[in-house]
Parts: sequence; C-alpha cells; structure tokens
Amino acid sequence: MKNFNLGKFEDERKAMVELLRRRGIKDENVLRAMEKVPRHLFVPEAFIHYAYEDSALPIGCSQTISQPYTVAVMTEALEVKPGDKILEVGTGSGYQAAILAEMGAQVFTIERFEELLKKALETLSKLGYNVVGTVGDGSIGWSEFAPYDGIIVTAAAPKIPKSLVNQLKINGRLVIPIGDLEVQELYIIKKIEEHKLDIKKKFGFKFVPLIGKEGWSEERFRNN
Ligand code: SAM
Repeated sequence: MKNFNLGKFEDERKAMVELLRRRGIKDENVLRAMEKVPRHLFVPEAFIHYAYEDSALPIGCSQTISQPYTVAVMTEALEVKPGDKILEVGTGSGYQAAILAEMGAQVFTIERFEELLKKALETLSKLGYNVVGTVGDGSIGWSEFAPYDGIIVTAAAPKIPKSLVNQLKINGRLVIPIGDLEVQELYIIKKIEEHKLDIKKKFGFKFVPLIGKEGWSEERFRNN
C-alpha cells in the first residue's frame, strides 16, 4: 500500500483492532492488515467519523460495507497466505479486497453494481492495491481466473453455489453466509477432494442478499 494518509485515524484504527482481539480474532496477519488499511477512505464522507466503530455502514445502492468484526472473522476463516489467488464476490466498497491485498493475496473481485465497482477500484488504485475487478453475477463465480485458493462471498445465499465449489482448488476454502433473508450461518467450506467437502458453521450473521443465478432471484428485490 502507498504511504497514504496513514497518520489519520491511527488511534481509532488501533482501538478497533484491540476490540477485534478482545472479540476473539487471533490471526495476527488479519489484525495487522486491519490496523493498516484506512477504512475511513472506503466509506462515504458523511460516515467518516463512524468508520472505526464496529458496525456496517451504508455505501450507496442500498448496500453496506461489512462490520469490521465480520470482515475479520471471514478473513481469518479464509486462511489467506501470500500469493494465494482469491475471488471475492461482492466488492461493495472495496475494503475487504484491500485487506486481502494487504495480506499479499492476488485478488479478483466481482460486483453486480457498476457504480460500486468503479468507486471501489478507484479507491484501491489510489492506495496502491492491484486488484482485478469486474461487473457481473458472482453467484456463478468468475471462471476466467479459476481455480482459486479461496473464495469469499460477502452477501448471503440460500444454498451453497455449485459453481463456486467447482472453481475452488483442492484444499481451497469457500467462506459464505448461508440462510434465509433474516439471519444466516457462516459456512467455512474446505474442498478436501473433488466431491468431498468439509463444512464448519458459525452462527449469528446478517448480510445483504446475494442476488443472482445461484443466489436469491432478482425479481424479489427489484424495487429495493
Ligand atoms: N465486501 C464489501 C466491502 O468490503 O465493502 C461488502 C459488500 S456488501 C455487504 C455485499 C455486496 O455484494 C453488495 O455490494 C452487493 O451489491 C453485492 N452482490 C450481491 N449479489 C451479488 C452477485 N450476485 N454478484 C456480485 N455482487 C453481488
């Protein structure tokens, strides 16, 4: 990351990371990345002073930047190593992509709203993160760059999308919230063999819906 505005909100960022530690996040690489990435540059100007509170915030298009605790849990579960090829479904603000890039991953990200993708890629590029992004339906993954060491889905699906499992390498991880529209479980899926998955679950998460072919149908949300 370029040395960009790092002094600003440094104390708030440290306090946020301390809170994440107290809430049980142990992976020092995740905590280090979250202490470095300036979350305030990924939220609209009006919310800048809330950027280091542990809450989701609106980013436009009726979408949100995820709560820092959720970002930390999901990134920890993804077990990212430098050089890993990671697909993120749901670019949103670009913050999660920045955390992955800061950890040394090669990041591909897909977003259904062009407006959000454009803004996110601008912010990432200003900060010096080399992230590849596209507009599209990420519920069917991004086959062009598959297979991936890890796939992180930052919106909730009704069931595990088969395309995403197919685009994982053997020993790859898929981290995805699964459930109804009210509450979901975070599924941490490891592809042990071609047709063998190890699935662990964490309770009590709430995400915006994954809308697409292997997510929720678009008609349902047309007026949102
Ligand atoms: N990762 C984001 C960040 O760091 O700001 C948070 C993303 S927000 C919780 C979920 C995002 O998923 C929204 O921007 C939404 O538009 C997007 N989304 C929903 N369904 C999608 C789909 N099928 N393909 C791509 N993006 C999708």
